[in-house]
Amino acid sequence: MDATPRLYASTPLRLNHTIETEVLAIDSAAPDPGVIARAAAVVRRGGLVAFPTETVYGLGANALDADAVGRIFAAKERAADDPLIVHLADAGQLATVAREVPPLAVALAAAFWPGPLTLVLPKRAEVPAAVTAGLDSVAVRVPRHPVAHALIATAGVPVAAPSANRFTRTSATTAAHVLEDLGGRIDMVLDGGPAEAGIESTVVAVYADGVSVLRPGAVPTEAIAEVVQRADPAATIRTGAREKVSPGMMAKHYAPRARLTYVTGPREAALARVRALVAEELAAGRRAALLLSDEDLEALADLAPALTASLGPRGDHTTAARRLFAALRELDQRGAESVFAIAPETMTGYARAIDDRLRRAAARVE
Ligand code: AMP
Ligand code: MG
Repeated sequence: MDATPRLYASTPLRLNHTIETEVLAIDSAAPDPGVIARAAAVVRRGGLVAFPTETVYGLGANALDADAVGRIFAAKERAADDPLIVHLADAGQLATVAREVPPLAVALAAAFWPGPLTLVLPKRAEVPAAVTAGLDSVAVRVPRHPVAHALIATAGVPVAAPSANRFTRTSATTAAHVLEDLGGRIDMVLDGGPAEAGIESTVVAVYADGVSVLRPGAVPTEAIAEVVQRADPAATIRTGAREKVSPGMMAKHYAPRARLTYVTGPREAALARVRALVAEELAAGRRAALLLSDEDLEALADLAPALTASLGPRGDHTTAARRLFAALRELDQRGAESVFAIAPETMTGYARAIDDRLRRAAARVE
């Protein structure tokens, strides 16, 4: 999305000690208030708690405590110029972090909250600069996952929470993924089973006269456009930032350890291209892997020595989103050196978000 070279001058310090990470099982449908109370106490005293949401696992801290927010950046080794999303228990608390809420934001919040939509709005001074990477705007969302909701409501503070993985790597969709990346670096993980959507929230900047979709995500762009148009037929709907630089939208992100090649274009041509590339890899003795739909794996079944991971039935973007990050981690674990994926055929539902993540995970498209 953004090919501008970025400077990582602000890379945080590496941690030189480990802490004990407590893992607590929790029922995602009916979270135990006792477990939630323990996690909320950790957040209130400035600690870090990873928790399931309807998108991916989040790594939460008190958004109004600059030291706690600093710990998120240190644990993830996240670049300081990549702002965090602030999570609220309900839309009524919006005024505690946003200084203006344009009518279009009210309409979008009414339509999609609680849920996987993030709104970028003018920020209140109470939100520390560390949360917003020094920007005058703040990204806000009200999650619908019962564990996320209960944790934020019980903590009684807005919770800043990026995805619970090391910076630039594949987002965590299970507690095991969180521990793989952040074990020994954070205070607690609430294990509520796999995250629901598997893909992050849609990020939308809201202005008086229109919106910009900054990051495609779990709320499809077409659903956002519909609500905006209904609220204000004259409103403009763009994709990408109005400002020159969109923070955090660096080319390389969501990356597996293996080298990922993402092939776009018509299906038959894409399959032929993958067949040729994978045959080359296998001939050179490298462990190549296919990350494709069931039908596409079937079409390339002759590449038998290749490792495979299924994204589900062809055209089922919901299943593909849920499996995407877990499949990339699994292929890493199985020793894949190169992974090949092809673009969704239609850009509906989660497809735009899947395409965005694969482009950036590959940071190289054929
Ligand atoms: P995540 O890493 O999933 O927590 O997503 C955070 C992303 O939200 C950042 O990388 C930005 O792309 C976007 N974001 C957060 N705050 C802002 C902001 N104030 N303005 C624009 N985009 C933002
Ligand atoms: Mg992230």
